Amino acid sequence: MSGRVLCIEDDPDICRALRVVLSRAGFEVLVSTDGEDGVRTFHDERPALVLLDVGLPGIDGWAVLERIREVSDVPVLMLTARGLETDKVRGLQGGADDYVTKPFGNQELVARVHALMRRSEGAGRVDEVLDDGVLRIDPAQRLGAVGGRPVELTPTEFRLVSTLARHHGQVLTSEQLLEHAWHDPTGIGPDRVKFAVLRLRRKLGWDDLATSPIEAVRGVGYRYRRPGGR
Ligand code: CA
Repeated sequence: MSGRVLCIEDDPDICRALRVVLSRAGFEVLVSTDGEDGVRTFHDERPALVLLDVGLPGIDGWAVLERIREVSDVPVLMLTARGLETDKVRGLQGGADDYVTKPFGNQELVARVHALMRRSEGAGRVDEVLDDGVLRIDPAQRLGAVGGRPVELTPTEFRLVSTLARHHGQVLTSEQLLEHAWHDPTGIGPDRVKFAVLRLRRKLGWDDLATSPIEAVRGVGYRYRRPGGR
């Protein structure tokens, strides 16, 4: 497996180690040592995966993650400090795919990078246009629109809303959504679905739970309510 990996990390020793370990594993390695440069390099180089340190000079890893998630579903592996379990939760809430705790073992790191790459390469698509009068989804162009207003969605968000809308009226469990929208849900928990739905609702302007077409069914999953009926 090959591909381009962007490491955003300010510790020179860790950067050196990442470069050695990942190039030995066959990856092309790009390194940024601060957050601003990391975001820039991400946009310029479109890496297949990002390794992201939390504590960075300038804008921190959380802000970098947020900027990346506005435009991309690229797998992001967070590098967190030992003992900061809250970082793990915060990372997953922000849309990170996985995390490793520093200091990490080389084999563990490479195994996780491979797993995330496989997961993202396996992600597929459905290709029929869906239009229910409020929501329009065009898989060929990967475009979404609400009430005629275009919405920029990441591939996962796109698959998530497509899956919900194509099964309108039906309650889908987190496991089913993981299966459809993530394709290889190995190692991803239902919390990921919850956070992804929250982000999706926000993007679509469907935050208001009283009127949101994406309804949470407590203890079961989610249901898309088609306008004017179920
Ligand atoms: Ca750091």
